[in-house]
Amino acid sequence: MILRTFRMGVLARALEEILQVPPHAFGYPLLKPQGLSQEAREGLVKVCPSGAFFEEEGVFGLDLARCVGCGRCALGYPEAVGEMKTLEVAVTRREDLIQRVDLERGVFLDPGPPPPPRPELALPTLAFREVSAGDTGLTDSEIALLGNPFNDMGRFGFQVVASPRHGDVLLVTGPVSRNMAKALERTYQAMPEPKGVVAVGNEAIAGGVFAESREVLGGVDKVLPVDVYVPGDPPRPGAILHGLLLLAGRVVQRLVGGVVR
Ligand code: SF4
Repeated sequence: MILRTFRMGVLARALEEILQVPPHAFGYPLLKPQGLSQEAREGLVKVCPSGAFFEEEGVFGLDLARCVGCGRCALGYPEAVGEMKTLEVAVTRREDLIQRVDLERGVFLDPGPPPPPRPELALPTLAFREVSAGDTGLTDSEIALLGNPFNDMGRFGFQVVASPRHGDVLLVTGPVSRNMAKALERTYQAMPEPKGVVAVGNEAIAGGVFAESREVLGGVDKVLPVDVYVPGDPPRPGAILHGLLLLAGRVVQRLVGGVVR
């Protein structure tokens, strides 16, 4: 009996450790310009499993749309990478998901103000249709949560419609597999004007972990004009709601050049 209790205690402790969420599990990495020594830069490029870091012509960069949120960079090189916690945001310009540091001056490069939202989409209600263009199901399940009592997208006037002919907005998930490209184009063509496109999740923005595959196009903007990009792997429902609010011109963009400004 004592032995059994002892074993249960050990098992309970092991489970507690397994289920403990590590502190780096949420948020986005944030470069620290002053800590980007050559050793740290080389280490970051090597340690990142998704190729999110790059260096070109005196600029070191981090593409948040390539990040899968593993936290290895922040754990391995805390002097060079910090963390932006619980960030649920979207952007209207792909460039705003990339942090670029000028290595000579040790500062972030500023890509300038983001483009304003399209006034014709500033509607009191938005009906959207979703197309999964090769998504793993993760981002689709986050979109499905928009209608639950907690997120309650109806309070903002957002609703799902069954046909693209009734839609104002097309939400696209997945890296756009070659097999889905035509269907995606035809869905977009079936929508009435004015219409917007939201790329939801890192796969839809840049291909995610499938980016190098020959079977995918590597992002919605290879096929359609994208109005809003919602980063995350997968993005939380709050980020998707922020993307729709941004599209409708009801919030201002917070992330510019990959940094909250
Ligand atoms: S947290 Fe993102 S940027 Fe950092 S190592 Fe992981 S995938 Fe790469």
